[in-house]
Amino acid sequence: MSGYQPRLDDMMFSLTKVAGLESISKLEGYQHADPETVGTILEEAGRFFSAVIAPLNRVGDQQGSVLTEAGSVRTPDGFKEAYRKYVEAGWAAVHMPEEWGGGGLPYVIGVAIQEMFKTANMAFALAPTLTHGAVEALHQHGSDQLKSRYLEKLVTGDWAGTMNLTEPEAGSDVGALRTRAVRQDDGSYRLFGTKIFITWGDQDLTENIIHFVLARTSDAPPGTRGISMFLVPKYLLDDNGAPGSRNDIKVVSIEHKLGIHASPTCVMSYGDGGSGAVGYLVGAELEGMRNMFTMMNAARIGVGMEGVAIGERAYQQALAFSRERIQGRQIGADAKESVAIIEHPDVRRGLLTMKAYVEAMRALVYVAAGEGDHMYHAESEDRQELASDRLALLTPIVKAWCTDVGVELASIGVQVHGGMGYIEETGAAQYLRDSRIAPIYEGTNGIQAIDLVLRRLPVENGAIVAGLIGEMTEVLDSMTSHAELARFHRELSAAIEGLAGTSRWLGERLASGDIQSALAGASPYLRQFGTVLGGWLMARSAVAALEGAADFDAGFLADKVNTACFYGEQLLPMANGLSPAVTGGAGRLTDAAF
Ligand SMILES: Cc1cc2nc3c(=O)[nH]c(=O)nc-3n(C[C@H](O)[C@H](O)[C@H](O)COP(=O)(O)OP(=O)(O)OC[C@H]3O[C@@H](n4cnc5c(N)ncnc54)[C@H](O)[C@@H]3O)c2cc1C
Repeated sequence: MSGYQPRLDDMMFSLTKVAGLESISKLEGYQHADPETVGTILEEAGRFFSAVIAPLNRVGDQQGSVLTEAGSVRTPDGFKEAYRKYVEAGWAAVHMPEEWGGGGLPYVIGVAIQEMFKTANMAFALAPTLTHGAVEALHQHGSDQLKSRYLEKLVTGDWAGTMNLTEPEAGSDVGALRTRAVRQDDGSYRLFGTKIFITWGDQDLTENIIHFVLARTSDAPPGTRGISMFLVPKYLLDDNGAPGSRNDIKVVSIEHKLGIHASPTCVMSYGDGGSGAVGYLVGAELEGMRNMFTMMNAARIGVGMEGVAIGERAYQQALAFSRERIQGRQIGADAKESVAIIEHPDVRRGLLTMKAYVEAMRALVYVAAGEGDHMYHAESEDRQELASDRLALLTPIVKAWCTDVGVELASIGVQVHGGMGYIEETGAAQYLRDSRIAPIYEGTNGIQAIDLVLRRLPVENGAIVAGLIGEMTEVLDSMTSHAELARFHRELSAAIEGLAGTSRWLGERLASGDIQSALAGASPYLRQFGTVLGGWLMARSAVAALEGAADFDAGFLADKVNTACFYGEQLLPMANGLSPAVTGGAGRLTDAAF
């Protein structure tokens, strides 16, 4: 089983040449995030995550987190100590607001650090992913009093946050949830209900756990309009703000899962003791869904990054294996000796497919995160608004495209190993098992596709999508001066045109009220959109690499161009192959005899 070495060169290249780190570091409040400083920080982070967190990936899978007889969760060997080091080194708070004890670096840098945590150990990294979402929700919607009592400890990672939406009858349909919140005279609430599938719902890493719970107040209207958000601490705080008495929250059980064994997935009972779990309203009553979306959108970018991370880890593992495994002779060559499998074209295709998709997806996640920085820090309101629209459009694509592709890459990783991939010793199987959850949680990928088509595409009559597609065409001009990019140029031009066509077709279906046809095409459309965005960003990478990026090694740049061209010439053309599925209408689906 191979270790993990962050690909700092590609990360820095994507940050500086594609996601615009330089312009982000000129935004108000980010002046200390110049590329050189960021490079040093990422190097340091890389050392930490490869040395301290990555070695726990295997033990986490084998031991898993367990529920003790005392009713609390025990994490695998070494997790507690490693988490402490993570908090003490300040990695939890790098991109958090300075006013609450964070490092104040741009979100895009926080996302790059998240990438390293997730690549090192996806199951472990889920704990901080949810805490970051909790900080965002509390920061934006919480009262000053709640912020002053809870925010700092969440920012530093001393306490962890969780997200509680799902109930047995309320999965994708969150509006069906039944957990009740009863208002008390002192302004607090008492919560009663059961939540299922709560990630890191309990653990022994932090001295307190702050649950963000969706519930229904008395007389609330049905559906999502009747939902409010509550902060429910595992331990209630005493007058000094320290964790005191235990709240009425119980971990009923933890799930046995296909993967991410180290991440405890808990069934949580609130108010089972009879008195109700003490909770505090975040934002106003009935605004819970809106506030939870703040948390979920941050988490969706984080989950999209899991696709990149698992693809990268599976790639590194497969690459190492393919250099060691001797099997077969090269066909057509005169050689009598058997060779390492990396010499076989079909194995090289698998490896390069993994590498190319990872680089395209990494660039996309960084670009989306960069929009998050512009959304809050850009000078002009227009730029802030554009960034907000762009991030909203890109979020479902990041979440769904990257996680679907992540599973496929983990599967290619198994394939490169042959039989050794299917047995557990090599570790390749763990990546495939771990990857499979990412298209499911944080809103299934089907729900992301619906969000893209029903809620993002129609914004301003399609102008946001059209604007992004228009911007994509700009790279075509800069490609024409490079003969090496001629084929890529042809494919990208055709793919952008194809995406523009399917976007128009879907827009027309929505406008005419033919929603079923639009919904039937939603998932292939999202896949097409992601694939074309990947092509656009790989084209920009290729141009930047060819036009000289003095601060990067010549070998790296030449390989970047090759990888980008492989993506553009051999992966990108699949985008237009999806058009018939996008525009096929609902007929075949409704007529199917199941
Ligand atoms: C390991 C794990 C960790 C999790 N962590 C958390 C957590 O921390 N907090 C939390 O609140 N939840 C968590 N979840 C819950 C997760 O978010 C839900 O499982 C997910 O949202 C899907 O809900 P469901 O399982 O009820 O599936 P369902 O909603 O029953 O969906 C089943 C299938 O039907 C499709 N479907 C459903 N409705 C529609 C529709 N309207 N249109 C089209 N297709 C539809 C779905 O895409 C899916 O393919 C976790 C789940 C797991 C397995």
